[in-house]
Amino acid sequence: MSLVRGMVQEWAEDIKCLRLPMPAYDAVNAWILGAAKGQVVVDTGMPGPETAALWDAARFEGLLQDLDSVLCTHAHIDHVGQVGALVAGGRVPLFMSRPEYADVVHLSGMDAPTRRRRTDDFLLEGGFSAGGALSTADYSILAPFPGTVRFLEDGEKITLAGIEFEVLVGGGHSRAAICLFSRARKLLLSGDQILAGSGPQISVLAERAEDDTLGAYLAFLDRLDALPDDLIVLPGHSRPIHDFKAQIRRIREGHHARLARLSQGIAGAMSAAQMVSLAFSETTARRMHARLPYLMRALTNFLVARGRLYASREDGTLVFSRPG
Ligand SMILES: [Zn+2]
Repeated sequence: MSLVRGMVQEWAEDIKCLRLPMPAYDAVNAWILGAAKGQVVVDTGMPGPETAALWDAARFEGLLQDLDSVLCTHAHIDHVGQVGALVAGGRVPLFMSRPEYADVVHLSGMDAPTRRRRTDDFLLEGGFSAGGALSTADYSILAPFPGTVRFLEDGEKITLAGIEFEVLVGGGHSRAAICLFSRARKLLLSGDQILAGSGPQISVLAERAEDDTLGAYLAFLDRLDALPDDLIVLPGHSRPIHDFKAQIRRIREGHHARLARLSQGIAGAMSAAQMVSLAFSETTARRMHARLPYLMRALTNFLVARGRLYASREDGTLVFSRPG
């Protein structure tokens, strides 16, 4: 019986999607480019034996016959989880952007008490209680992360399994994620930068709480908006997106509406925790509960950087008010 065939879908010629398991989400999409010789894997799934067994099965069942290189679109654990096994001690080259690679190495080397302390400082600053969900997954399982890597730069051209791609590097969902754009094939392998629904989570890391991640994301959306209209987007989760430009518009409008509700709804001086109900519906707030401190900070950073909110400190908590 085949372990892996049922999880594979060919969404474009010689581009197979391997839908790998992920708790709390339907699946993470890993890609096998090329059919036989010189194949390239884009994104690798969660760490752990369940996903590792699926990659073994992909080899055994002939889907993955001759791996030429591995590319990770960004540092999140559901995309880099199996890099160690796939690059086989550095024999298979790994491609990432420099900042995303640095983030995996940093996060995988962080000890549990440091992560807890940074998170608690961050939560208290936002007016949330200490002890809440950590900023990121536990990356220590990935240590030591493979040390041989080739850094890809924005604008670079790269041929992967015979397909020429332009590398687009942008921030927002993570610091410097890679999207792969093929003009000839009318394809965008978007990683998590474009997802269905309301789009990717735009949050901050407790370690880099000042980052204007939403500003970076909206700027990158503008760049994607300048690409041809008729691209098919192959995203890091869920199904292919055929109405690419409309999806960009929906994601952008969602962010702008939340930002407007915050800047217009604020009354007096409020902490991020007190502003949650301005930004998110009750249902969304309940669903995203653990992520709210990180999402709220991305919103307030954006507004403060543009003079639409004023920030000050009261006993270590950041409070926001209308400027002027
Ligand atoms: Zn991600």
